[in-house]
Amino acid sequence: MKKFLSIVLSFLLLDLFIGYSQPSDREANYAGDRVRFKALMYTDEYAEEVHVTFAHQSIEFFHKLTYGEGWIMDKVTSIENLSNEELSQYSVIICPDGLPSSKKERPLFEYYMDHGGGCVAFHASGYNDSDTAWPWLSQFLGCGYFKCNNWPPQPVLVEVDESNHPVTRALPKEFVVPASEWYQWQDDLRSKDNIQVLLSISQKNYPVGLKDIVYGGDWPIVWTNRNYRMIYLNMGHGDEEYIDPTQNLLFTNAFRWVVSTDPAGNPFDK
Ligand code: ZN
Repeated sequence: MKKFLSIVLSFLLLDLFIGYSQPSDREANYAGDRVRFKALMYTDEYAEEVHVTFAHQSIEFFHKLTYGEGWIMDKVTSIENLSNEELSQYSVIICPDGLPSSKKERPLFEYYMDHGGGCVAFHASGYNDSDTAWPWLSQFLGCGYFKCNNWPPQPVLVEVDESNHPVTRALPKEFVVPASEWYQWQDDLRSKDNIQVLLSISQKNYPVGLKDIVYGGDWPIVWTNRNYRMIYLNMGHGDEEYIDPTQNLLFTNAFRWVVSTDPAGNPFDK
């Protein structure tokens, strides 16, 4: 009997030992069988260095949000080899430093967005001028061509324009966001019925910049185009964007909101 107990104990100890010695990948695989949606992280590795830095930090930030949340994030630097069908599997494409804009990518991205796709686009993703020569992009963003920016990057006081929106509801009415390079655009976003401005740079900041100085003007920095499941956020320059909890909340809310409007149903309700 003693021998039997000793064998049982040995097995128990062995089991404990094996259990503890397994490499822990639980967080990454926790989604298991209840994956509710998939997101695609698209990065442009040939973008300006500081924008690539933001893109890499974005991969880290959003990857952490996959822990235990039942969703998966795939990463690509091109969508050229993906079919319309494959892209349609994604609830959202996150674009931290550029949109899929090569000759082959444009029709794929347009098709994806025109058929219910979702997009969270940051900073340089919205850059658009006469050289870009992508008419679809202008109406997608709604802001027209790039007009000017401040330099160097700096923090600014921002104001919530629409406090009933799921993206901004929990944010303070005014708050200071980390240093960024802020873009102004040629079109008046507020004059467009399909555009909803959510956040703007406060007029109290003027003048903004030390080398390139912006002296005034309406300055929306986060908005949505109601014709699409999209949100654009002007933040995304350099390595100090993910240091602020309020801004991180804004980013998380923006992502969550786009995903929640999935035409197949809100994945968070599953
Ligand atoms: Zn920039």
